[in-house]
Amino acid sequence: MNRVFNFSAGPSMLPLPVLEKAQKELLDYQDSGMSVMELSHRSGLFTDIITEANQLLWEVLHIPDNYQVLFLQGGASQQFAMVPMNLMVNSGKADFVHTGSWSKKAIKEAEKFGEVRVIASSEDKNFTYIPKIDSSMIDPEADYVHITTNNTIEGTAFSQIPDTGDVPLVADMSSNILSEEIDVSKFGLIYAGAQKNIGPAGLTVVIIREDLIGKAPETCPAMLNYKTFSDSDSLYNTPPTFSIYMAKLVFEWLKGLGGLKEMERINREKAQLIYDYLDASTLFASPVEKEGRSIMNIPFIIPGDDLDAAFIDEAKQAGLETLKGHRSVGGMRASIYNAMPMQGVMELVNFMEEFETKNK
Ligand code: PMP
Repeated sequence: MNRVFNFSAGPSMLPLPVLEKAQKELLDYQDSGMSVMELSHRSGLFTDIITEANQLLWEVLHIPDNYQVLFLQGGASQQFAMVPMNLMVNSGKADFVHTGSWSKKAIKEAEKFGEVRVIASSEDKNFTYIPKIDSSMIDPEADYVHITTNNTIEGTAFSQIPDTGDVPLVADMSSNILSEEIDVSKFGLIYAGAQKNIGPAGLTVVIIREDLIGKAPETCPAMLNYKTFSDSDSLYNTPPTFSIYMAKLVFEWLKGLGGLKEMERINREKAQLIYDYLDASTLFASPVEKEGRSIMNIPFIIPGDDLDAAFIDEAKQAGLETLKGHRSVGGMRASIYNAMPMQGVMELVNFMEEFETKNK
């Protein structure tokens, strides 16, 4: 077996103990004689899996009682439409903070359902920073305010969650959910595709405050209405059973590690190692302003030189995979989600140092 350090933005690495447990249980789950993939979603064994996954997420994120966790499909991209379909229902207005490619898609989709106002944007500097938000910028009539807490492509993240007062705050947390401690009570709704910090692709997690459920109009398709999934404990139709099982194993792993407090400490240490190196380097540089830097996705560039392809190729040969930056921004990007071990980050930094020495 030759596992590499995979710096992919998602789907990305899963914790090795999780993969090993899944492997052990793959052919015969708890003496059922079946794989989880072959279990009915109505069976007792699967009901236990989804109930435990739900409870573990609750525990790890310290979710308050007046929220519900929904296990959905369609990715975060489906939430770009589902959020306005369900929430843009009173004034028909929503305020958005525009911080990159994913917020752009969220805005475009929401515009199909109501009046979207961009209250702040970092487009003027190529999305290399997080704009300041204060409550005076928010329309008190807006049905919600939308932010992207971590911008996967641009490598920026909100270091502080804006105070939106009585207007519900909706957050696309696809690329930093479970990476650090958060106060769920600041949000009306949180959504995330699973394929970074939660588990395999196919599952989308929504954490929604109860008063925001059941507001969609009658014409809203059942599969796009949060109430459908709230009423059925996420079992309205066949859910992505194996992805939910894997998510449960990931939540167990996180809890065993010491929860989000410990995960955040490790993640900050990993990111710091790379940023400290980038800031001292005479070859590489970070394009992102210090205050807005993500601890999950770290883009870096080699200004002036045409060395990107050589770097990516040589890194791959050294077992450091998927370091190419997103096609829209170029350069390189190291995604270091929860499952990336410190060892992988140390090997990356060592490799960068060697590359820098060679190319001085
Ligand atoms: N939002 C963010 C911040 C993302 O990183 C991604 C995927 N990389 C998406 C939305 C889209 O997610 P999905 O592919 O699950 O629809």
